[in-house]
Amino acid sequence: MDFAPTDDQLEIERAVESICTRFDDDYWRTRDRDGGFPHDFHAAFAEAGWLGIAMPAEYGGAGLGITEAALMMRTISASGAGMSGASAIHMNIFGLHPVVINGTPEQKARWLPPLIAGTHKACFGVTEPNTGLNTLRLKTRAVRQGDRYVVDGQKVWISTAQVADKILLLARTADPDPKAPSRGLSLFYTDLDRSKVEVREIDKHGRKAVDSNQLFIDGLEIPVEDRIGEEGRGFEYILHGMNPERVLIAAEAVGLGRVALKRAARYANERIVFDRPIGKNQGVQHPLAERWIELEAADLLTMRAAWLYDQGKPCGAEANAAKYFAGEAGFKACETAVLTHGGMGYSREYHVERYLREAMLTRIAPISPQLILSFIAEKVLGQPKSY
Ligand SMILES: Cc1cc2nc3c(=O)[nH]c(=O)nc-3n(C[C@H](O)[C@H](O)[C@H](O)COP(=O)(O)OP(=O)(O)OC[C@H]3O[C@@H](n4cnc5c(N)ncnc54)[C@H](O)[C@@H]3O)c2cc1C
Repeated sequence: MDFAPTDDQLEIERAVESICTRFDDDYWRTRDRDGGFPHDFHAAFAEAGWLGIAMPAEYGGAGLGITEAALMMRTISASGAGMSGASAIHMNIFGLHPVVINGTPEQKARWLPPLIAGTHKACFGVTEPNTGLNTLRLKTRAVRQGDRYVVDGQKVWISTAQVADKILLLARTADPDPKAPSRGLSLFYTDLDRSKVEVREIDKHGRKAVDSNQLFIDGLEIPVEDRIGEEGRGFEYILHGMNPERVLIAAEAVGLGRVALKRAARYANERIVFDRPIGKNQGVQHPLAERWIELEAADLLTMRAAWLYDQGKPCGAEANAAKYFAGEAGFKACETAVLTHGGMGYSREYHVERYLREAMLTRIAPISPQLILSFIAEKVLGQPKSY
């Protein structure tokens, strides 16, 4: 058992950190207040070659594992960029995993290099307003007409659709079949044709820099060559990418918790009340210590899940556990950071209120805590399926 990062992994963290220092706290506070996608941040990562960290080398990627990608996302988040920075490039890092696994060589050659180079931005279109977490009930319909599909339907919460050139879209190509419940959905990667897709931004709680949207799809035409793998097997294909995505979100949550805790510890040392630093009170320092322990535990779960994935071993329970625990630990760290700052925790000047708003997201998406608990109860503890 070896818990030590390799020299290469440490070097990744150092290099990523050095890019992040160009985008300071004020940069992210302004983005959070005014919105507007952080194109310059995205471009900086593209120019330095980091967007392809986990993509195959033959298409311009670095061919590294989910462990290295997780270290990178944790570092970005911990720099103070938080979920605004992480979500701005999250889709480039692992979003096209289904293409890597199930795409044809022609599709990979067409789609991966521009995503890695940062010339394409992509969004991920799964969630729908009327089906929620019950993905197998998706209603958006793709009807085959000769050499193309015509798509009609609605999606909700689709991040980066304001700036995306492309969409990875899950849509129904056959009626649900109770005998084969995971069949009937197909996966496409295609142009986000704004003449056929109305993109309406959702006004939301945090992470204003990275938009989330309602999509109204009306007659979107998708050439057959933009379908990934076989018709009807799209759900299976996105399942392959779910564990690594949970690991990345977990790493981002740990990073966010760490930056919040760092700020809180600093403030606890500096703020003098009753003639002494507030951190001298155990009522202030113990919650900070508890949060540190929780974040360390969350990090170990996350890195173990990443390691299992990179070893090609099953990691469903571990990836879900990491996402659950890191989401909760990151959120609690941000909450403690706000409380440690007292009234100032509520002001934008100290950044921790922004972290708290962003931390909520790591709990909700891409899967809720309740569904993770149900999954673990069923798959690990042998309880009856409850959803
Ligand atoms: C900022 C943001 C960005 C997002 N980006 C994207 C994106 O880019 N692409 C995309 O496709 N989606 C995206 N999502 C959607 C996200 O993945 C979903 O919001 C999330 O999966 C929850 O689905 P829902 O909102 O429909 O919740 P619902 O399915 O409506 O569930 C509501 C609540 O009920 C609970 N619940 C439901 N059924 C059960 C049950 N059987 N047992 C116990 N509890 C249950 C859930 O756990 C949850 O707490 C994003 C969401 C947010 C907030």
